[in-house]
Amino acid sequence: MLKDLSRTQSVTNSWESACLRSLVPDVAVFLGVGDASAESLGNSACVLCKQEKPWLLIDCGHDSVNRFKQVFSNQLPSHVFITHLHYDHVGGLEQLFFKAALSGKHVRLYVPVLLVQQLCAMLRYTQLSEGKADVWSTFILHPVSESFWHQGVKLWVYPVRHHAPNSAYSLHLPGKVFYSGDTRPIPELLMHMATSGETIFHDCGVKGNPSHSGIDDLLSEYPAALLARLWAYHYHSEQDHIAFKHAGLKYVTPFSEIQLGQNESVYNT
Ligand SMILES: [Zn+2]
Repeated sequence: MLKDLSRTQSVTNSWESACLRSLVPDVAVFLGVGDASAESLGNSACVLCKQEKPWLLIDCGHDSVNRFKQVFSNQLPSHVFITHLHYDHVGGLEQLFFKAALSGKHVRLYVPVLLVQQLCAMLRYTQLSEGKADVWSTFILHPVSESFWHQGVKLWVYPVRHHAPNSAYSLHLPGKVFYSGDTRPIPELLMHMATSGETIFHDCGVKGNPSHSGIDDLLSEYPAALLARLWAYHYHSEQDHIAFKHAGLKYVTPFSEIQLGQNESVYNT
């Protein structure tokens, strides 16, 4: 009898796992990996994809809409999470608004709640004269506190260390991905939250500064087991690859596709 029950349980678990696999993203495609002054690497922006389709765009810099269209058969992103309000991360929102508005589409914008007022101020003059419509006719504003639901999946958001407190955020999908956004090292978050085999994408230039992480910062702040799951992005030029290789760090290149963590067991608890 017990045996039968355990078999039923295992069938249920495998069915649940199969359902979860169909809900959660499986790869990340980076549209760009550059810092704010990089010339050829593109603005850092990442698309979480599920079964080869775009699921969620993280950040929308000056060139992100064009690069997104280039990768995804001329489509526009339909869901965007904003990590912070520097223009290399939000400078493409105006273009996205015009393209979406003129093609009758809506775009859901997940914005950490403390950034909403400033984002509204940044976009206040953006509108269509012909349709007498402003950005909020096209963008569906979705304020985010510590977590939010996206297509049946719960994602977590944590403030990171980039300029003023609570002005920049990371994004976490347990068991799958931790995306740092622009930040200094955040061991207090990664060591406590990214504990389920997540693929970690982390701000990292060759040398750190008061706003961003550098190679030496990551090597001194994170243990080897965590570094093994970490990919550096948000750097200055292709020349930086030499330093990443020398340090034993993996790094993302533009348009590369990277497998996310495969630990779905965290959703069964
Ligand atoms: Zn920034």
